[in-house]
Amino acid sequence: MPLLPHESPVSLGEGLTPMIESPALAAEIGVARLWVKDEGQNPTASFKARGMSAAMTRARGAGVPGVVVPTAGNAGAALAAYGAAAGLPVQVFAPRTTPRPILDTIEAMGATLVRIDGHIGDAGKLALAFAAEHGFFNVSTLREPYRVEGMKSMGFELAEQLGWRLPDVVVYPTGGGEGTIGIWKAINEMIAAGWLPAGSAQPRYVVAQAEGCAPIARAFAAGHEKAEPWINPLTYAAGLRVPSPLGDRLLLKVLRETKGVASAACESDIAHWTKRLATATGIDAAPEGGCALSVLRDSVIQGTISTHAEVVVFNTGSGASYRS
Ligand SMILES: *Cc1c(COP(=O)(O)O)cnc(C)c1O
Repeated sequence: MPLLPHESPVSLGEGLTPMIESPALAAEIGVARLWVKDEGQNPTASFKARGMSAAMTRARGAGVPGVVVPTAGNAGAALAAYGAAAGLPVQVFAPRTTPRPILDTIEAMGATLVRIDGHIGDAGKLALAFAAEHGFFNVSTLREPYRVEGMKSMGFELAEQLGWRLPDVVVYPTGGGEGTIGIWKAINEMIAAGWLPAGSAQPRYVVAQAEGCAPIARAFAAGHEKAEPWINPLTYAAGLRVPSPLGDRLLLKVLRETKGVASAACESDIAHWTKRLATATGIDAAPEGGCALSVLRDSVIQGTISTHAEVVVFNTGSGASYRS
């Protein structure tokens, strides 16, 4: 983790989220065992807290005058909180269509919020220009190196919570790719450091996307090495509305190397599986988590994921963020 010996991290108690096993969902989906890692229990209600803790630790250490981010929502809420914790001014560019509770959180934490017409790609251009003009540090997904380092804690916890072994399959609802890449990087580092039993190998990664914005799933199906921008991205699962993920090449490489799967769910299946995730477990499921479950279900039906598999599904956010 990017922490110098004399430093303490900018932290709000992120991480160590529960990993809850659901025999009921395992039976319904048709896999051997299934756990849900509930990232909605992080500060500001998503896994983005992990990345922003690491990023703000380094930003504060570097003495930057302020921080700026383009966001589909949760990264902005997390940056607003961790920026406040670090004592840094925060500027956020977010689509007007972002769920209201998320926009309210950004403003409640004292950040300057600019609501834009368009998607996160449009917000990204504004953030770049703002950073150049004001000297603010741009913490856009995978554009700076530290957020993904913070994401590694999901990979460490995955192994720790299973008793220092790995699952067969990790299902992640993927937008920009930072969460998925962080887990993969952590597991590579654990294997290299000898923290895991001899012979441990990367799990298979399932990248779950929405049919209305599925650049990685499309590129994967076509066997491409990079993704083309998705025109007119549209999905209720705001965290997945990322038309040009910067991590596309690395994600596609990880998928090839781990015999992974990238696939998309339609909006009605996302809604159905969000509800099932909540009602079968009591976890406050986000639509992104429902999307992950839906894609897993399809993959089992199609035979790309084995019925003998032990699977961890990430519920990356909270249903509460969508209730206004
Ligand atoms: C950001 C986000 C995602 C996508 O994560 P990436 O790291 O950008 O792939 C998924 N779900 C939620 C709730 C998010 O906030």
